[in-house]
Amino acid sequence: MGLVDTHCHLQTDRFDEDRDEILARSREALDWLVVIGDTLASSEAGVALCGDGIYAAVGVHPYHPEEVIEAGLTKLRELAARPGVVAIGEIGLDYYKYNDAPPEAQQAAFRAQLELAVELDLPVVIHNRESEDDLSSILDEYHQSLPGGILHCFAGSDAYLERGLGWGFHISFAGNVTFPKAQELRDRAVDVPFDRLLIETDSPYLAPQPVRGKRCEPAYVRHTAETLAEVKGVSYDELVAQTAANAARLFRIPVEKSQAES
Ligand SMILES: [Zn+2]
Repeated sequence: MGLVDTHCHLQTDRFDEDRDEILARSREALDWLVVIGDTLASSEAGVALCGDGIYAAVGVHPYHPEEVIEAGLTKLRELAARPGVVAIGEIGLDYYKYNDAPPEAQQAAFRAQLELAVELDLPVVIHNRESEDDLSSILDEYHQSLPGGILHCFAGSDAYLERGLGWGFHISFAGNVTFPKAQELRDRAVDVPFDRLLIETDSPYLAPQPVRGKRCEPAYVRHTAETLAEVKGVSYDELVAQTAANAARLFRIPVEKSQAES
C-alpha cells in the first residue's frame, strides 16, 4: 500500500490555475486522498472531484456556523449520499478568532453536524483551535455513537491527545510536525499507537520543512511520512503502509480498490 493524504483542500481557489496538474501529480505520488469541505460550497466542489482515488468529506468549519441551519444540513445530507463521500468534516470549534462566529453558535453547528454523522454512520474530521475543553466535553457525549473520528492537524496538549485516544479516534499529523521547533509535537507523536496514526497535508496550508513557505500539495505528504517514520523508529515503507491501512479502515475504503487504483 502506498501513501495517502487524509486531509487536503484541492477545491480551493489557490488551485484554480493548475488543478489538473496538481491532481495528476497527486495521483502519481499517492494511492488515494480525501478532499475536505469547510463550507457548503467547498463541500460540493470536493464531492465533484470524487473518483479515481479521490474521496471527499463534507462539512462546515466552525468559522461558518451560520451555514449550519436546516437547509444547510439538508444539503450536507444530500452531498453525503453521493459516491466517494467517506466522512463528515471538517467540523469542530475554533476560539482563536471568533469575532464573526461566537462560541455558542459554533457549538450548536458542531453538535448538529455530529448528529448528522451519527445519523449517517460516518466518521468525523475534527478541527480544534484553542477550544480543547469545550470540544472535549461535547465529544465526550457523542463519541460512542460515532464510527470513529480524526483529530486533524494535531497540535494539542497531552491531555487532549489522551482524551482523543480514549474516544477511539485517530490522530493525524500535518507538515508542522516536520518543523525544527516542533520537538514537543514529535514527542506527542511517539505516544500515538501506530494503529491510530494518520498523515495529511492540509494543503494548500502548512507545507513541510523541505518545501516550507510554498503552496502545499498532497504529494508533499511524503516529507511528513519521513519525519514520522523517524519519530516512530520504523522504516519509511512501514510507516506508509500502516498509516494507509489505518486510513482505509477508518474511511472504509476497500484496500483492493486503492491498490488497483495506484
Ligand atoms: Zn483543513
